[in-house]
Amino acid sequence: MELNDLYRDVILDHNRNPRNFGPLQNADAQAEGFNPLCGDRLTLRLKLDGDTIADVRFEGDGCAISTASASLMTEAVKGKTRAEALDVFERVHRLLTADDASGADLGKLAALSGVREYPARVKCASLCWHTLTKALSPADGAGAAVSTE
Ligand code: ZN
Repeated sequence: MELNDLYRDVILDHNRNPRNFGPLQNADAQAEGFNPLCGDRLTLRLKLDGDTIADVRFEGDGCAISTASASLMTEAVKGKTRAEALDVFERVHRLLTADDASGADLGKLAALSGVREYPARVKCASLCWHTLTKALSPADGAGAAVSTE
């Protein structure tokens, strides 16, 4: 199986069966994201245990890439500290924007590298990550909204 096929299968699977999708009761932080270019909307909610992301769930309506990216993200950051999650964000951002980033250290998230070939979709893939950083920023974690524009 070609690597690209494997990546496509991961995206399709996470779009069809998004992980951690749905409401989260008693969330400690939340943020909303909107990508006007594609119409992707998502609400991300976090439960924090000190500095650790104890639980994370998302709801929303978006294209396959935005849904799969959010699903992969929730799997990747659950159980991580704020600093660790932001480190993953940095590496995913590089994966989405730098041609020489292999994503070899990112596990399943490396599947997002396929988006690089479609610049218009990079915002779909990065929306949930920008929303996460917004939710994790202490100053305005509650009810904050981000837009990719
Ligand atoms: Zn989209």
